[in-house]
Amino acid sequence: MPELPEVETLCRQLREIVLNEEIRGFEVRDAKIGAVSGFTGRKIFSVTRYGKTLVIKLDDDTELLLHLRMTGRLLWQVHHQEVIPYTRFVIIFPRGNLFCIDPRRFATLALQKNGSGKAIISDPLQTRWAPVLHEITCTRKTPVKSFLMDQRVIAGIGNIYASEILHAAAIDPMRSICEVTLRELETISEAGRNILQRAIDCRGTSVSDWRDLFGSRGEYQNELKVYRRESLPCLRCGGTISRIRVNGRGTYFCAHCQQ
Ligand SMILES: [Zn+2]
Repeated sequence: MPELPEVETLCRQLREIVLNEEIRGFEVRDAKIGAVSGFTGRKIFSVTRYGKTLVIKLDDDTELLLHLRMTGRLLWQVHHQEVIPYTRFVIIFPRGNLFCIDPRRFATLALQKNGSGKAIISDPLQTRWAPVLHEITCTRKTPVKSFLMDQRVIAGIGNIYASEILHAAAIDPMRSICEVTLRELETISEAGRNILQRAIDCRGTSVSDWRDLFGSRGEYQNELKVYRRESLPCLRCGGTISRIRVNGRGTYFCAHCQQ
């Protein structure tokens, strides 16, 4: 699933090519995407991100919200194409076409008035999360990893980056969030910002189907320290990486140096 670095990568690449461009057409190729229409002729005012949601603001005080969910991706093609498998919609611009491709069909697209979505509590790139988390944490018994992935608390972190962040911070993913101190939360938040920023610089992590706007693989998979390294030596302490399940999600960690 695209997480914050992947969606941020799409934002940055889209800004380069569609800002101030007019939408010439919109083709729905899979009606399950949502009943969205009426924005042909509008220009792109901005492209931003709201957690893992891509927000395309138009010049008439409305915005398109795209959530890619499990397998959604965007692909820019200069030439219009009738057949790209799993295409759910196409937005047509003067200089090219934006395809949304999504084999599992969970992606959603909506059109709304500017800013009428829910406010997110914390974007990991823009706020100091530790104080925010500390205030909420005390009544929670959730494992710290699930808490990091709770989109109502911090928006944008999914399964890959949660494992990486907790390994970098040397925190056991199963620890109850109530037992994590403010100082440890500071360490987690600093590790998180560094990892997410580096992953954005690498245009995301392509361990499975993630590709950027132009169809290229990201490069952060070459820098993963713990994710999908089960039974291999920990790169920090030489201990063995384990794979466990936390709230049903495969979780990688080193029992020797993550406490
Ligand atoms: Zn270790």
